Amino acid sequence: MDEFSFINAIKPKIYNQQTLIKGIGDDAAVFRSTSDIVTTVDTFVEDIHFSLETMEPFHIGYRVLAANISDLAAMGAKPVFYLVSMCIPKKWNQKALEGIYQGMNELALMYQMDLIGGDTVSSDRLMISITAIGYVSKERARYRSHAKPGDIIFTTGTLGDSRAGLEILLHQQKCKDKDYYIKRHRLPEPRAAFALGLREIARVALNDISDGISNEANEIAEASGVELIIIEERIPVSPTFHQFSEEQQYEWKLSGGEDFELLGTVSEEHWPRVQEIAHQENTTIKQIGYVREAEEPRVLIQSQEEIKQLTKSGYTHLK
Ligand code: ADP
Ligand code: MG
Repeated sequence: MDEFSFINAIKPKIYNQQTLIKGIGDDAAVFRSTSDIVTTVDTFVEDIHFSLETMEPFHIGYRVLAANISDLAAMGAKPVFYLVSMCIPKKWNQKALEGIYQGMNELALMYQMDLIGGDTVSSDRLMISITAIGYVSKERARYRSHAKPGDIIFTTGTLGDSRAGLEILLHQQKCKDKDYYIKRHRLPEPRAAFALGLREIARVALNDISDGISNEANEIAEASGVELIIIEERIPVSPTFHQFSEEQQYEWKLSGGEDFELLGTVSEEHWPRVQEIAHQENTTIKQIGYVREAEEPRVLIQSQEEIKQLTKSGYTHLK
């Protein structure tokens, strides 16, 4: 593969962001902003974070950018630019690599996000690292440390679907809504529009669900120094999720990961408005618990039978 012809092929024909001054083609890109700038980077390695057994190049590109957009959304930032660093093994041809960029581009277009640079080197395994840049108004970045006692806890969408989709792809399981679960795994929808819609609300704690709600809820509890109580039967799952075994359902909804939904907390006073905003942005949202003052930060999960502590790894034990 010729690096020059590759870069030429993936270079955007037009840019959408007005704040961009110089895109691909010089030693570095240049943009000019009056907003606060939010940056994030995520790295994905073949056969660790993705595999050609379960994904086409298009899905790989889509999903790696989705993970970055989801991080920006969880900060309340509008996604604007991304840069892609690629380590490419010889066995990958240019057409397959362009497929990865087509996947990224499809998602980027939804947000008018511009590809403004990257780096290309060769290696034994495919590795993709994306740096994404977003804008947020002053005092509107959403931190994990923003939860307060008395808040309600909410989550968008449904949880566990991506993990179910992976299971179906790996074991070619026959099941209901097979295509839906596979799509949730390959083409996740980050909740950027909803997160941006919240801009009028002064305080919201947000975290995106990339590892699983048990991990992300604990991160909020620790950063905010509070106790989160999650009511198990309120955790939203898809209508046909009950077809999977009890153990799978429990594990996948709590620690399945890669759903790229948003977990958040907000005051009871602002909760009705948050629901309205979610509705306007075609995002389903549900209250799943509440925040309490804590002696030590932790997450409890309450079912009809008992209350248990939920650890980061999803392990539960009696209180
Ligand atoms: P330099 O040697 O100055 O780093 P390169 O020849 O590596 O420049 O890259 C030329 C241009 O192409 C730069 O604007 C760079 O950001 C962009 N670029 C290189 N590789 C990629 C890639 N994999 N994806 C997107 N842009 C890339
Ligand atoms: Mg370079």
